[in-house]
Amino acid sequence: MLGRNSGQGRLVVVSNRVALPDQTATGGLASAMRAALQERGGLWFGWSGKVARQTGGDVHRQKDGVVEYATIDLSRSDHDDFYDGFANRTLWPLLHYRPDLVDYDRKHLAGYLRVNNLFAEQLMSLIGPQDLVWINDYHLIPLAAMLRGRGIRNRIGFFLHTPLPAAGLLITLPRHRELLETLASYDLVGLHTPRDRRALEEYFLHEVGATMRRDGRLQTPSGRMFRAEAFPIGIDTHEVAESASHADEHEEIHQLRQSLEGRALIIGVDRLDYSKGLPERFQAYARLLERSPQLHRKVTFLQIAPPSRGGVPEYRQIRRELERSAGHINGMYAAPDWVPIRYVNNSFSHDLLTGYYRTARVGLVTPLRDGMNLVAKEYVASQDPRNPGVLVLSRFAGAAQELTEALLVNPSDTEEVAEALGIALTMPLHERRNRWRRMMEVLEKQDVTAWRNAFLQHLAP
Ligand code: UDP
Repeated sequence: MLGRNSGQGRLVVVSNRVALPDQTATGGLASAMRAALQERGGLWFGWSGKVARQTGGDVHRQKDGVVEYATIDLSRSDHDDFYDGFANRTLWPLLHYRPDLVDYDRKHLAGYLRVNNLFAEQLMSLIGPQDLVWINDYHLIPLAAMLRGRGIRNRIGFFLHTPLPAAGLLITLPRHRELLETLASYDLVGLHTPRDRRALEEYFLHEVGATMRRDGRLQTPSGRMFRAEAFPIGIDTHEVAESASHADEHEEIHQLRQSLEGRALIIGVDRLDYSKGLPERFQAYARLLERSPQLHRKVTFLQIAPPSRGGVPEYRQIRRELERSAGHINGMYAAPDWVPIRYVNNSFSHDLLTGYYRTARVGLVTPLRDGMNLVAKEYVASQDPRNPGVLVLSRFAGAAQELTEALLVNPSDTEEVAEALGIALTMPLHERRNRWRRMMEVLEKQDVTAWRNAFLQHLAP
């Protein structure tokens, strides 16, 4: 394992958003990177989350134990073109199999390249010759090429935290080669699942004209060589289980349990995003209530959905749609002493979430597409081993490749999801325990530390 004292230089993590020491880490990437850096120590570079008069300017630096943070501000127009624009209105829908929502604008692409260039410029002075550089996610695809252009020869790895669709879909992006071919400037490109890796290989083989070398690396016609590999991201399984086992210490958990008055709880926790399949999930729950009158007043569905990316119109629209849908379902089925759906637009700390997960008889995780989905893993790790709940999981979440003992569903098939909910709510204890134990074994083995070590071992020279 690579330790801090191995004489190998530091770990330099780069991602669009940096979760500073005093901030709650919402989002899979932030939680995972914080855990990785705390384990090994190093530098985390990215956007401060602040919009200022100009992009760049002073680099804000702070230290917290073994982790150093360096962030820069973005100007309003760079933020709008790079982040709201090309990253979240072009790449995000494309990578989540939603070409119908892709909004391509040359101005946004120019902003995306401009900000990546700025990142490269600032990073140059922070990277030591021996440092390992680990760049994250779709916001920063061309960053390695821009660093190489400035003479950086360090080992540079990239991890894509979203799915990667097949070449047939990728080529619908205008000027796709200009962008995607820059992935060859990395030494290692990590993806969540073998399916995503195959998609990348196919794109390079068929669209770029690359060849597959005997050593498993792809070689582009220009001679660049890189490796693509699947590394399914994990959670800090032990920490999540530990925190869930202390759930009783939180007043909020008592309050939730009391408010249930013995009803079974179904829980969903997702950023408010169209990829999470929330309208379909609400419909599936409505279908459950329609076909199972015996469940009325016996079950409560708590959907936690903190809003995200409010600057993008599609996110404002899905928020309105869900408010309508929750209101409609409650209007149809609620009784004076029972509200079928509790729809909460706040975000909660990890600690509290583990207690909520543990209280829930069913974890309902039904994204239409998701790179991994850490909530699914956290739900399982939070369960009481003596009386675990059941995970209902979309086949199209990366997590479904590992959590095969979940009740796997097609999230668009609301009938199937309703059926799975019915099965989950009545599953006998021995089956719940068996399924939980097998999933927990996977989560203990493939935790976030194993993920980080595997990636860094492949990246190290
Ligand atoms: N999360 C949180 N508070 C909330 C909602 C979510 O801390 O109120 C965390 C959640 O525990 C998980 C992450 O945000 O670790 C979401 O990661 P996931 O992979 O499920 O989805 P993403 O948001 O990255 O698409």
